[in-house]
Amino acid sequence: INPNKVDIMTSGVSKAHYPTHGLPEIALAGRSNVGKSTFINAITGRKSVARVSSKPGKTQTLNFFNLDDQLVMVDVPGYGYAKESKAKRAEWGKMIEEYFVNRECLKVVIQLVDLRHNPTEDDVLMYDFLKHYQIPTIVIATKEDKLTKNNINKQQKNILHSLQLEEGDEFMTFSSVKKDKVDDVWNLIAQFIGR
Ligand code: GDP
Repeated sequence: INPNKVDIMTSGVSKAHYPTHGLPEIALAGRSNVGKSTFINAITGRKSVARVSSKPGKTQTLNFFNLDDQLVMVDVPGYGYAKESKAKRAEWGKMIEEYFVNRECLKVVIQLVDLRHNPTEDDVLMYDFLKHYQIPTIVIATKEDKLTKNNINKQQKNILHSLQLEEGDEFMTFSSVKKDKVDDVWNLIAQFIGR
């Protein structure tokens, strides 16, 4: 896979809004500011696929993108934004749970973490949540370009130690600035969606 056509299909909060399609679906999750929008743009070779609506404080919706009729990518709004109200967090939780529980075409979730930091409590909760629902997961630690080689190795160990990846899940480091491992990302995704 190497999609070069990206079309927004729909945005929605609940099941009734999810689009019908015969394609495999992947979803992208990560805490606010982890670099999700930049990552989406990097792997699709676009400048502005990921919409402003995914920014903290803006309406939180699941955004569905058709990638070249090969797969559908769902941008999940970022979590762990400190200033979010309790009510908003609860709304977010409900939306995510409904999606993960009901979406049979969902093949894999890419959870982004920041390679510079140890996973936050929210990162760990998210991973455990995905495991609770038995959703195959690729953890990608981004912003690799900001670290030295030694620190890349050290942080990689810390992250794997915190998250305790289950068998079958995958981990890689990435830089949306260097974009040198875009093919590796797609190869991993291909393993999970069977294409
Ligand atoms: P989002 O809130 O998760 O969508 O985060 P953004 O994509 O808006 O990224 C947050 C900040 O991190 C922006 O200033 C990006 O330019 C920066 N950023 C994202 N990915 C990378 C990366 O791989 N390397 C570096 N150096 N900066 C990054």
